[in-house]
Amino acid sequence: MMALTPLSSGQSLVGLASYASDTAHSRGRRFPEPEAPTRTAFQRDRDRVIHSTAFRRLVYKTQVFLNHEGDLFRTRLTHSLEVAQLGRSVARTLRLNEDLVEAIALAHDLGHTPFGHAGQDALHACLRALAGPVDAEQDIPGWSFEHNLQSLRVVDRLEERYPAFDGLNLCFETREGILKHCSRANAERLEEQEPGGVAARFLRGGSPSLEAQLTNLADEIAYNAHDIDDGVRSGLLSLEQVAEVPLFGGFVQQSLAAHPKLQGRRLLFESIRLMLSEQVYDVIRTTQAALDAAGIDSVDAVRRAGPLVAFSVEIRAQSQVLKTFLLRNLYRHPQVMETTDRARQVVNDLFTRYLDDPAQLPDAHVSLGDPLQQRARMVADYIAGMTDRFAIREHERLFGRVLFP
Ligand code: MG
Repeated sequence: MMALTPLSSGQSLVGLASYASDTAHSRGRRFPEPEAPTRTAFQRDRDRVIHSTAFRRLVYKTQVFLNHEGDLFRTRLTHSLEVAQLGRSVARTLRLNEDLVEAIALAHDLGHTPFGHAGQDALHACLRALAGPVDAEQDIPGWSFEHNLQSLRVVDRLEERYPAFDGLNLCFETREGILKHCSRANAERLEEQEPGGVAARFLRGGSPSLEAQLTNLADEIAYNAHDIDDGVRSGLLSLEQVAEVPLFGGFVQQSLAAHPKLQGRRLLFESIRLMLSEQVYDVIRTTQAALDAAGIDSVDAVRRAGPLVAFSVEIRAQSQVLKTFLLRNLYRHPQVMETTDRARQVVNDLFTRYLDDPAQLPDAHVSLGDPLQQRARMVADYIAGMTDRFAIREHERLFGRVLFP
């Protein structure tokens, strides 16, 4: 029998740092509610996300590979869990609020359409086309689709679970983390509805909490790593090819130096494991140094400062090279592009049909249909909520054509 090694202790019960988000100082919920007796407000937010309908749908939504292409590829759900895991690891070491990181991470992709970015682009194009002939770069409020804004819409309005309000009534800090990007036009619209709220920083500057910044970076660390794994698993990338990318190649060399006979899947996994660890340590070191250098000692100081959670300059540059590699060789691989073309068509066809014939929508939606902008948004919400396979089935029902056999 193998001898067990005692775990190192001292990590589990540390208090929050002065710059961490503390529920005691939360800016609160939009609708006042009594506190829960056994959970903090951010733990409660996390639990509300896990119990939501949108969260369960993530299991059948595409990350890069369509859900039906194989059982072992990441879906939006497993991706979100990996983001939460990476984020919590860093949060604990930096004494940030792990519960808040987890709540943001599990909610960050709730607004994604079926079929990943192809679905989002198609839905955006459908809405833009209705706005009339406008400059393609121009930002038109109400006639666009952004997945970050949609994630916020899901937790603020679209979930129907509570007697007294729409949405999940999450804390400001969780909602702020979910809205990681926002166009100016959309920020102005949000600001009208909620003055000084989650959109204010996109208009007046300032940074979100460290937990929000961290979750954003954990997202990048997660997808860079799992897309290498899924890319090689799919056969669209070879291990040799990815080993030429400096960031990853270095860890392949390191794995082989320690285990000269390592090959195939175990070499891939060991290299990914080392890359994840090094990126996590790099973020911890760089962020701690930035916090110390700027003398950050409160959440208010975080909000006034520029971005503080970051990679070192070298890892930032190498991560960028890896992202570009994945874009060119995986996300734009002809085989991926071919599926995304069909996915775009499904979304486009569904949007057009529902808009013309709202009787095809479930009963609850039909009455919401006027004016045009409201109807278009309702259709966009309905399509954005779909899983890949539901969208495919709806398309077959309405058009009698099988685009994904
Ligand atoms: Mg993500």
